[in-house]
Amino acid sequence: MDGAAHLKPLVVLGATGSIGAQALEVAARLELPVAGIAAGSCSDRILETAAAHPAAAVVIANPDDAGRERCRDRLGDRVSFGPEALDALAARPGSIVVNGVVGAAGLAPTVAALEAGNRVALANKESLVVGGPVVTAAAEYGGGEVIPVDSEHSALWQCLVGEPVGAVRRLILTASGGPFRGRDAADLAHVTVAEALAHPTWSMGPRITVDSATLMNKAFEVIEAHHLYGVDYDHIDVVVHPQSIVHSLVEFADGSVKAQLGEPDMRLPIQYAITYPDRVAAPATGFDLTRRPLSFEAPDHDAFPCLRLGYTAGKQGGSAPAVLNAADEVAVAAFLAGRIRFPAIATVVAATLEAVAPHPVTTVAAALAVDAEARVVAAGLVESAG
Ligand code: NAD
Ligand code: MG
Repeated sequence: MDGAAHLKPLVVLGATGSIGAQALEVAARLELPVAGIAAGSCSDRILETAAAHPAAAVVIANPDDAGRERCRDRLGDRVSFGPEALDALAARPGSIVVNGVVGAAGLAPTVAALEAGNRVALANKESLVVGGPVVTAAAEYGGGEVIPVDSEHSALWQCLVGEPVGAVRRLILTASGGPFRGRDAADLAHVTVAEALAHPTWSMGPRITVDSATLMNKAFEVIEAHHLYGVDYDHIDVVVHPQSIVHSLVEFADGSVKAQLGEPDMRLPIQYAITYPDRVAAPATGFDLTRRPLSFEAPDHDAFPCLRLGYTAGKQGGSAPAVLNAADEVAVAAFLAGRIRFPAIATVVAATLEAVAPHPVTTVAAALAVDAEARVVAAGLVESAG
């Protein structure tokens, strides 16, 4: 296809998820070869995806015994298993790696890909939250590059193209506000899992959808922006924008503000991360500014304390953001399983941050050790909160 002829083969990690499926759609449209696909478990979905991409190597990162046997039977030598196989796939020379893994499990393959000199189209924000400095060092060491897929960070990237780094005064991340925007803290005590999963503007995996309802997702995105663009936390702001049309903004030293706009459709930032610096045609989305008003409001920190926890952990640095993420993964899983109420997600995360002493994190192993420690603490707190 015009403009995409030079593109490299794709490796799609998290191929059965929301991002992974959309990345494979983009690959099909751009006629890009898919060299590898990976998922957490041996689901019907990964078997279907493997059948649709017969030339792709397949990795199942975290199979149970039955899943390992099933995938081995169906896929033979094409499939390999475990986190090391995931890293090896990410390090396939000459690839563009779309990282759509959910959770801290995404960090190691991001680092492996960057060390091998690959481009990472990064949706897995946890890579930067859990191991920001490790990711930056891996890119420097291996010559790989991170191009963000997260819509806000893609917007910032697009606003920053051609601009001197020193000219940035402030990054302004937009947040939809999630399904509970406008509710107060008392109201939130009894919301249900189904209500939390009903996101008003984006269709995403369950964890990030709940994180959008607590604003923890925006907390992660503030940390992600800090590492991607080297901007201080005091110069990263969040504004609630319920329509999800303005994807984020950059204010420059002269007071000029640039924004990137578009329909809420992750295929656009996924495609841009793959084709950057080129822009390649995509089906028209019928973007129309006259169809609806665009509004902006300040976040409600009392009802949604997770955003402030993100700034606190980010400023603390070292292991604190990894603790933030691990505690949230545990708390969100407990909420989804009906074991704790919605406001307890923030309580569990805050208490875990208090309980786990912060220290520097300079390797993947150190980040994953913090992750494991924080999970144990958070699981204990879930028991007492439940
Ligand atoms: P999802 O739950 O739909 O998919 C997650 C994928 O990760 C699945 O393919 C699953 O098999 C795989 N996975 C799970 N555990 C794994 C493990 N241990 N090792 C390897 N793979 C594993 O999630 P999603 O909504 O696609 O989100 C993926 C990532 O992208 C998250 O970090 C999320 O924050 C980020 N993101 C998503 C969106 C979106 O629109 N969905 C937008 C911005 C950022
Ligand atoms: Mg986002």
